[in-house]
Amino acid sequence: MISDSLREEVYKCIKCGLCMNACPVYKQLYFEGASPRGKVQLIKQVIEGKLEPSDHFLDLIFTCLLCENCSVNCPSGLKIDRLMKAMRAELEEKFGLKWQKRMAFQFLRSSRLLSFAMIGGRLLEPVLASSMIKDRKFGTIPYARIPKINRVSLIDQYPETVSPDGPVSGRVLYFTGCATNYFFENVGSSVISILNRLGVEVIIPRDQMCCGLPIFLSGARSMAIKNILHNIEILNAQNVDAIVVDCATCGAALKKEYTNILEEMGANTDAARAIAAKTLDISQFLQRFDLKKMLGPIPGRVTYHDPCHLARSQAVREGPRNLLKMIPELEFVEMEGADSCCGGGGTFQWEHPEIASGITKKKTDAILQTGADIVASGCPGCRMQIFGNLETDLIRVVHPVELVAKAMDN
Ligand code: SF4
Ligand code: SF4
Repeated sequence: MISDSLREEVYKCIKCGLCMNACPVYKQLYFEGASPRGKVQLIKQVIEGKLEPSDHFLDLIFTCLLCENCSVNCPSGLKIDRLMKAMRAELEEKFGLKWQKRMAFQFLRSSRLLSFAMIGGRLLEPVLASSMIKDRKFGTIPYARIPKINRVSLIDQYPETVSPDGPVSGRVLYFTGCATNYFFENVGSSVISILNRLGVEVIIPRDQMCCGLPIFLSGARSMAIKNILHNIEILNAQNVDAIVVDCATCGAALKKEYTNILEEMGANTDAARAIAAKTLDISQFLQRFDLKKMLGPIPGRVTYHDPCHLARSQAVREGPRNLLKMIPELEFVEMEGADSCCGGGGTFQWEHPEIASGITKKKTDAILQTGADIVASGCPGCRMQIFGNLETDLIRVVHPVELVAKAMDN
């Protein structure tokens, strides 16, 4: 059920339409039902019992990237994305999940199953890269441009506590998230190496689970609750200076969504709020240090894409840019619409490839216009979407910390 406080949100809408131009989906489809305003009005009808949710209504509610651009542009302060997430949870109870999602989420709910799935995925990689099918796509991303799975998961490459060589000046918990753990080991090793060089001890909880955000954004809150409660328990178990994340989506889960979900379910939120208060994106945590004197040159030109889950969910915009601007001989160029959604949206690009590809094209065009040879972004999902659609190997797509770690080596 949508909580009483969220139900009241629909009455704040003055139908001004300011959210419409902010909505990347509406700007592809141009019909009222695809717009945030249209969706809010439809949800209002459902709440008031004047509209029975149908398959078409379900399609409209899921034709949304949950990018939050409507919410931040609404003059009435409507929490449109929260309303949409809560509606998805109601629809999941009525209609269930697509079988593909149900199956994928079973893996995300069990670290052991996920680990087995990754072993299977590695065996499949030569097939995906074979000339027969490498041009076929997963949503908008050609198989050949899907990132390779780490040979050994990041967590298994390190002891649970990674201490600096010299004196210890601080301690953090590192929530790696699934993408860094299984796909982007270089991001994880960069985080650990930078922190250790700064004298920070890094604790990587071995029993951390998927943050659960891909599950609960699909409406399956009851499936996600195990991950949420487990992570809250283990992350609150140790006394540290901060909980550090390198994934925008995990950060949004820990800082905001866990509390929102528990609040909407009428559960106690104290422990979730304690985690939220301690969680920092790695770019925020690194602002505490004087890094500049430790960085060598990386000649080139870099641009930065703001992930929705970092820029809007967490209001982190300057931190990653500051890191990039500190690196000698690396020219920073702002792209047009840097904070507009890349079109990935978790499973959105798979479920709506024709809409996603139009949104992503705007992003890749903006990147190409900068003349940059590197694109940095703090979200593995954005990274996959951008790299998967760039159609050139001349531009590298990286996490900002990979450049910082490299600059420290130079
Ligand atoms: S911007 Fe807000 S108030 Fe205006 S139409 Fe959209 S949801 Fe309604
Ligand atoms: S969250 Fe993004 S995609 Fe969804 S309605 Fe709002 S602006 Fe449009």
